Order: sequence, then C-alpha cells, then structure tokens
Amino acid sequence: MRSDRLFRRGYLSAIFYPPVCPMCGGHVGDIADRTEVICSACLDALPRTEQAVLPENSTEMTLWGECHSPAAARRIMHLERAAAFLFYEKDHPLQRVIHKMKYADLPEIAWQLARLAAREFAYADFFEDIDVIIPVPLHPNRLHSRGYNQSEYIARGLSDVTGIPVDTTHLLRCKDTPKQAQIKASGAMTSVPELRKANVADAFEVVRPEQLYHKHILLVDDLITTGETVRACLKAMKRFRGAEFTVFALCKAR
Ligand SMILES: [Zn+2]
Repeated sequence: MRSDRLFRRGYLSAIFYPPVCPMCGGHVGDIADRTEVICSACLDALPRTEQAVLPENSTEMTLWGECHSPAAARRIMHLERAAAFLFYEKDHPLQRVIHKMKYADLPEIAWQLARLAAREFAYADFFEDIDVIIPVPLHPNRLHSRGYNQSEYIARGLSDVTGIPVDTTHLLRCKDTPKQAQIKASGAMTSVPELRKANVADAFEVVRPEQLYHKHILLVDDLITTGETVRACLKAMKRFRGAEFTVFALCKAR
C-alpha cells in the first residue's frame, strides 16, 4: 500500500494543499512527498512509551484482564507480549493528530508513525518470530463510510519496514457496533469498561482458521483504552489452534 493510492492521494493533495504538519502547523518536506506528513521536530518530540523493552508494561497489564501474570496471559490468552508506541493523553497535540488519522481522511499519518515505530521497535527484536500481521478489522459498513481502516495502514507501515506480510482475510468484524469512544456511562449500575466489553462481545469472527494454526500473529490496533476490542479479537482468534499472539498498538491511553 506504499501504494499507488497513497502516492496518488499525496500528489493530488499536494497540488491543492501545501504540506503542513498536523501537529505544529509548520512546513513539511518536499511538496510532492506527502508520505512524510508530520515534521521531523514533532516526530522527535512524540511521547514514546519505551514499552518494546519493558515487560509487564501498562499495555500488557491492561490486556491481561483477569490474568495476573505473564505466565497466566500466555497460558489462557496465548498472549506473548504487548506494547504501544506512544502515550495518548487528553489535550496533548498527539490527540488531535490521531483524530485526524481516524476521521479526517489522513491515513498517511498512521503509515508514517508505524514505519517510525517499526524502526525503533526492531532494535528490541519486537518482531522476531512473527509470521503474519493482522490489523483489527472494521465492519464493512464503517469501512465504506470512512474509506479506509487506519489499523490496516498501521499494519502496512510495520510490514514495509519488517517485511512481515499483512493478512486481512482471516479475522473479520461481523457486528457493526458503535465506536468504543462513544460508549459513555449511562447509569450508576454499569461501568464504561463493562459497556465497552458488551459492545464488542462476539463482534469478531475468523474464517479458514486452519490456515493460521501454529502461527505467531501480531495483532495491530490504533489506540488501546480499556483493551476490550483487542481482547474480543484474541478471543475470536483462539480458533487459530496453537497460534500465539503479540499485540502492537500505535497508542495507549494513559
Ligand atoms: Zn510539526
């Protein structure tokens, strides 16, 4: 997907819009190269988590849920490790950028940040032994209205650097659920995490699971908050018998 679409989009948009960094508003690189969306100064200042070299980090602990140790997470969820590249905080400029990435037709942001993450995480051997990268899928209705899956752009960015193939055919979203970010507490009886868990329960299904038996799969999400979406994916992917999982998120909410 360093794709014709990406470059065609980039070329056309550069004609109509001068390249401006979505974080600082400053000038970015070559006018014909919209693959570099965020400027180098802003890239240097991103709030990195350093979780690639941090076992039992906050992303892992969020995903563990009922599991209280790495050993239990491996045994019950087949989860080897998990890490996010950046911390996501309210009112940080990154919040605005991630919103543009998801909703303002700027998936190039996902692709650029993922390539940067892949280069930095590769030093920690984060991608060692991984066979295939699977992005958290969107429901076809959402994909149609948004025009792209930002998690797939992240997966493609990781793939460009690591050479690991991306698969979008075995894990599907079968329920068109409301966005997790829109789930708010509506009464005193039910907490937001419980509502989000119910929202994505059974939202995912796998097809032809036998083709991914015993593979090491990197599941990719854009933003982990309560972790319910990723947990629902892992639950569905248990049908990949003998498979083990590593999770990469572009961002982890603080
Ligand atoms: Zn900038």
